[in-house]
Amino acid sequence: MNRNGYRTYLQLPHGHIGLPAYLPDATLGVVRNVDSVDLEQCGIEAVVMNTFHLMQRPGSSTITALGGLHTMTGWSRPIITDSGGFQAYSLIRQNATFGSINDKGITFQPEGSDRKFHLTPEKSVQLQLSYGADILVCLDDCTHVDDPFETQQESVKRTIEWAKRCKDEFQQRMQQKRLPQEKRPLLFGVIQGGGFHELRKQCADALLEIGFDGFGFGGWPLDSKGQLLTSIITYTRELVPPELPMHALGVGHPANVVECARMGYDIFDSAMPTRDARHSRLYFFTTPDSLPAHGSTEKWFSYLYVNDDKAIKNDGPVSRYCDCLCCSRYSVAYLHHLFKINDSLFLRLATLHNLRFMVQLTERLRAEQHE
Ligand SMILES: [Zn+2]
Repeated sequence: MNRNGYRTYLQLPHGHIGLPAYLPDATLGVVRNVDSVDLEQCGIEAVVMNTFHLMQRPGSSTITALGGLHTMTGWSRPIITDSGGFQAYSLIRQNATFGSINDKGITFQPEGSDRKFHLTPEKSVQLQLSYGADILVCLDDCTHVDDPFETQQESVKRTIEWAKRCKDEFQQRMQQKRLPQEKRPLLFGVIQGGGFHELRKQCADALLEIGFDGFGFGGWPLDSKGQLLTSIITYTRELVPPELPMHALGVGHPANVVECARMGYDIFDSAMPTRDARHSRLYFFTTPDSLPAHGSTEKWFSYLYVNDDKAIKNDGPVSRYCDCLCCSRYSVAYLHHLFKINDSLFLRLATLHNLRFMVQLTERLRAEQHE
């Protein structure tokens, strides 16, 4: 524990992760353009994989036949799987003909697919266990932050019911497996309630009563202008004892990671850093170490756009403060050239760099919190 009572690490069946931690999204079992050795060399300690997508491709029976996600992907460190709820909800919200949600669970049929998929709380836990995840997430009923009170209230009610069913299923399976404590995965609950403080509290209290190893902040963490929902995110963290880890689901913008880590969030995942890399937007620190004090307007990181003409003859590295493969060996100018000729090496090097930046960011946060 650090001085504020928050955890400094989590011990999981496939290893240890320091906290706070940033986890890249390996949605379909791969962080696009990089392999497991690349991830290890960047210092990535765990990844998030996606139950909703993996149940469609390659499908749970194939994953089980291949020995689970760790064996299939050649990744030996921890994996968090999400419940699939957020993606199913997004699909249905985008077009109601793609599926429906009721108290039993979620039914969906993605566009172009001739198969119908059913996701219940029990099924979600069974899938995540069969994948061999280190942290499982309960199926929850997602909402949009702008949805009215009644919708959020319904979602909280259903999320609590589903969390109970997930916990029951998880406990039954654990009893059958008789795993020693160190091999037992963790189960996280998700706190819903949109922007309403009383609903977040109601949800958190009920989930704490059921008992989980950790929690996630449910719902999209940004408002319609892309701003972090600071007030409700702070409040929700305070509802959970500091020793129970909390995952800020979908938070990945460097400034938001710093802000949420300072509120006491422990785990972050987002596809933003790797997506930005592919679009030639690379992150770099403007100072050799430490982060600015809370509330400071100091610009502590910035972006380098590799596709920009200014990069054509830039023979320096992306960042003087980065030790990734890209920065230790190649110039910005070479990256620009690779980008212009559409070589896949650009995608790999750029991805490695932004991932290393995120790891260094969490190292700076850990140093700050452990002082
Ligand atoms: Zn680098």
